[in-house]
Amino acid sequence: MNLEEIAELEKRVLIPTYDRLPILAVGGEGCYVRDDRGREYLDFLGGIAVNALGYAHPEIMAVLRDEAETLLHVSNLLYHRYQGPLAEKLARLAGLDRAFFGNTGTEVTEGALKLARAYARQHHPAEPFERFEILALENSFHGRTLGALSATWPEKYRQPFEPLLPGVRFVRLHDVEHLRSCFTPRVAALLVETIQGEGGVVEIHEEFLKEAEALCRAHDALFIIDEIQCGLGRTGHLFAFTRFGLKPDVVLVAKPLAAGLPLAAIIASEKAAQAFSPGMHGSTFGGGPLQCRVALKFLEILERPGFLEHVRDVGGYFRQQLEMLQRELAIIREVRGQGLMVGAELSVPGKSVPRDALAAGVLMNCTQEKVLRFLPPLIVERQHVDELIRVLRPILATLPAGEKEGVPA
Ligand SMILES: *Cc1c(COP(=O)(O)O)cnc(C)c1O
Repeated sequence: MNLEEIAELEKRVLIPTYDRLPILAVGGEGCYVRDDRGREYLDFLGGIAVNALGYAHPEIMAVLRDEAETLLHVSNLLYHRYQGPLAEKLARLAGLDRAFFGNTGTEVTEGALKLARAYARQHHPAEPFERFEILALENSFHGRTLGALSATWPEKYRQPFEPLLPGVRFVRLHDVEHLRSCFTPRVAALLVETIQGEGGVVEIHEEFLKEAEALCRAHDALFIIDEIQCGLGRTGHLFAFTRFGLKPDVVLVAKPLAAGLPLAAIIASEKAAQAFSPGMHGSTFGGGPLQCRVALKFLEILERPGFLEHVRDVGGYFRQQLEMLQRELAIIREVRGQGLMVGAELSVPGKSVPRDALAAGVLMNCTQEKVLRFLPPLIVERQHVDELIRVLRPILATLPAGEKEGVPA
């Protein structure tokens, strides 16, 4: 079937949740994905931060082939060789003690919310149970299942499914007074992305995060950091939070963890982890041998000398190139991000940009209407950045200038 036939079929048979770009992907190598006509696209979206090693990475493929012929799945009723070592490694990297494996970001967010409630009950056995509130930040994204969705900011995602989880409050970004006023003895946890991804690559300020951490400590609420998008090398550091010296109780990882396979983890301190006991939580597919073995290989590659340095170097070069473009074209309002998590906010809606870029052979994304978001494989080189900028310049130069600042589009 060709693209038109596939699109026609999907239109009839898929529950209508996605708006796809018109590409029929059939293969890929390195930073390029290939369509059915043999056309190659430079990928600056990376399967939404999943394909951190690009497509068909030879070492990942070798592990996959070997494990596929050995043991695909055994369930969590048995032991296998890879879950323990992976938990140990993730805990060490995050400065924590234990891990639980799920499959997706929203699943481990959900698990962390349950952990927060269990922790509150264990440590504050008040009657009636009141310590169940979750604090999240305005502009946040934590997932699509009902619990994680309750802590996700955009009204348009939440409103159709109300009523959601009771007791979720959104703290105004960088408003320390508001943050303080939200902390009461009812708060079980604060959930935060240190760099908001879907929210448009918004970096949360260090002072605000430090205050949030201190308030969690003072109130014995769990400090949960969502590193699902910004973690595991994306910023040129193993985790985005480490550059501020934060000490979370819980860290969530997912997207790139198994280099393209679904795998996610709750990484927790000993004290937080002890709120769960056998039977309280679980996941049929979570932490299978295939995913865990691939994840161990991914982390091994991530830890090789020079790997994260490369991310910081190319990321710095990328931001520099975007800033040069910004001086040239008034339409770019701000360039933001760390490492290879980069956003360029436009002064006009940018929804047409990904489609135009696609026609010129580049895959990218626009979020929050006006923020061009780039999440390329961490193996991109400066030459790929140059290729992207060459494509982007004429597209942005011909964007209609739009409304004046401050006037809604
Ligand atoms: C993508 C994302 C999630 C949800 O992950 P899924 O695997 O899509 O469920 C949660 N938090 C952040 C920060 C994300 O970027």
